[in-house]
Amino acid sequence: MPTRKRQRPASPPSADFFHKLATAVPGILFAYWLSADGKSHAFTYVSNHTQQLFGIDPETLKENAEPLFDLIHPDDRKGMEESIRESARTLEPWQYRARLHLPDNGYEWFEASSRPTRESDGSTLWYGQFHNIQHYKVLEQELRESESEYSFQAGFQRLVARLSTEFINLGFGTIDECIDELLKSVGEFFSMDRAYLYAFGEDYSAITKTHQWCREGVASLVDENQTVSIDAYPYWRKQLLEMVDNNQVAYVTGATDAPPPDVAVIQSETESASSDTASVFCVPVRAQGDVVGFLGLDSLAPRKWRQDLHDLLIIVSSLLSGALERNMLEEQLLSQSIRDPMTGLHNRRYLMPRLSELVERAERYDENFTVAMLDIDHFKQINDTVGHLGGDFVLRRFANILEDLIRSTDVVARFGGEEFMVVLPGTNQIEVQQIIGRILAAVRSDHFLFEGRAIPVTVSAGVASGRERDDRMISVDAVINRADHRLYLAKQAGRDCAFDVSGPLGL
Ligand code: GH3
Ligand code: MG
Ligand code: MG
Repeated sequence: MPTRKRQRPASPPSADFFHKLATAVPGILFAYWLSADGKSHAFTYVSNHTQQLFGIDPETLKENAEPLFDLIHPDDRKGMEESIRESARTLEPWQYRARLHLPDNGYEWFEASSRPTRESDGSTLWYGQFHNIQHYKVLEQELRESESEYSFQAGFQRLVARLSTEFINLGFGTIDECIDELLKSVGEFFSMDRAYLYAFGEDYSAITKTHQWCREGVASLVDENQTVSIDAYPYWRKQLLEMVDNNQVAYVTGATDAPPPDVAVIQSETESASSDTASVFCVPVRAQGDVVGFLGLDSLAPRKWRQDLHDLLIIVSSLLSGALERNMLEEQLLSQSIRDPMTGLHNRRYLMPRLSELVERAERYDENFTVAMLDIDHFKQINDTVGHLGGDFVLRRFANILEDLIRSTDVVARFGGEEFMVVLPGTNQIEVQQIIGRILAAVRSDHFLFEGRAIPVTVSAGVASGRERDDRMISVDAVINRADHRLYLAKQAGRDCAFDVSGPLGL
């Protein structure tokens, strides 16, 4: 049997051969022509794919490239045309990525690569191909998003770690600086325009802005320490109370998309103070079991709602809660140790170092100060008549009278039992006499109404100053001893009176 030898295709390959080849490859092969003046262009050859992909007959493109160029995304077209002209000028290989409109899928990314040649008439002809790279673009975008998400999360963790370290190392009395720092850091991290802390009043009827950070150039809506009565805003009042009652964790207004279902949404209302603000994010701040205020973040531009934003805000608010709680505890401890729980006045432990400071100061600056030791007359008898609780009431009422009559620079303390001390810095003898006179008169004329019964109360006082006649500053103990001795003289003289260095005060 004769063997049938396979025939090689004729050489050189026919146009039909190239056509079959062009149809078989995934990319679109082309020869693109641009006139010397750059005013006309055409595809002298383009594979059939243009018909299936874009619904454009390749024959049309042989006349004019325009129908294909019309499919280029408006944002990409100018740049692409510039790069073609550049390649025509330099005859460097041309490569470009642009979006083309597909009848079914909308815009998708394509990449073209080709080599130019100059024709004898000065026109340019590029030979090359372009193909769909949408899939890679999507992957690239996903990668970029996951990288930025990763760095966002890592950044947030660093922020929380830094702030919580700061709060742990918080020195006493630096709470305000720490809160300011937190608001600034959190505001900047979330690219917000304002971050602020509002504190609720006792009965949730008013809110006070206690701390605030504003991005540079962004106006503050309410000044710091400004109290807003929420009774005047029934809508906000209702929302805020619901937030407190329902243990709701966050609310938002004006976001561009819906937050998760467990987040309370407050729709923007005309009465909202935030007229320039597009989005507001709020989260309650708790301390010792109560909602004590809320942290707010404003954005002037509308914002998307990050699905986990609510969790992130809760973390920030719990940082704040922790710091506030610690601060409250420290203040309570401090005030317990320096205040008398029954009358709320300072105690002896607080008073003694203050007196030492006063003596030092008065010595250094050639100043003076006066103390008055006040003791309730026949207090034992009062206890016996109205009972111990009645006696306690008299002590508290007397403390109130003292607080009402002294000036902000004076100090009043419960020295022990029914003995009180008033310290009057830099006061002359006449002023002291007037103040003591007013105290004794106020006690004498007050009814001390306890359980519907008036209790007659009087008080005696011994007055002494750091410098007296010899103008020499004496020690704390010496001042107290003098005051104590003069109190004794006042008791001897029949009570309800006061003695100073000159003897009985002419009250
Ligand atoms: P005088 O006019 O000489 O000061 O007489 P007095 O009765 O006030 O003086 P005395 O020092 O004999 O009595 C003070 C009484 O104060 C004795 C004590 O039981 C009472 N007392 C001390 N601390 C308290 C207190 O916290 N509550 C009550 N109800 N009584 C107290
Ligand atoms: Mg007494
Ligand atoms: Mg006494």
